[in-house]
Amino acid sequence: MADTIFSKIIRKEIPADIVYEDDEFLAFRDIAPQAPVHILVIPKKEIPTVNDIEEEDANLIGRLFLVAKQLASKLGISESGYRLVINCNKDAGQAVYHLHLHLLGGRKFSWPPG
Ligand code: 5GP
Repeated sequence: MADTIFSKIIRKEIPADIVYEDDEFLAFRDIAPQAPVHILVIPKKEIPTVNDIEEEDANLIGRLFLVAKQLASKLGISESGYRLVINCNKDAGQAVYHLHLHLLGGRKFSWPPG
């Protein structure tokens, strides 16, 4: 499976501003934040896109959202609100092919997305 920049962050080969880590997940600040809070929450398992999620990953993906929810609370944006985004493939603008959940908050977001 192709190695990505996020694999290197998981292996601590390149630095990142890590806000959470356990055996299965890593969360770190986006290098080009689009909001006052912009965290990437990733499973350490290399899953390139949402299209590659398998049945056996169902619990992992559920826990990915639990990590995001807990981080939103810890970072003080649970009540004000936040947006969770997963881009899949080119039309969505996916740039890194290691599944990641964007946790965005600290400002208002428009809907629908542009
Ligand atoms: P995507 O477009 O794939 O959903 O989002 C990839 C995100 O990863 C982008 O928001 C981009 O700013 C972020 N990113 C890319 N390379 C790095 C990096 O080396 N470190 C960090 N912290 N974020 C990165």
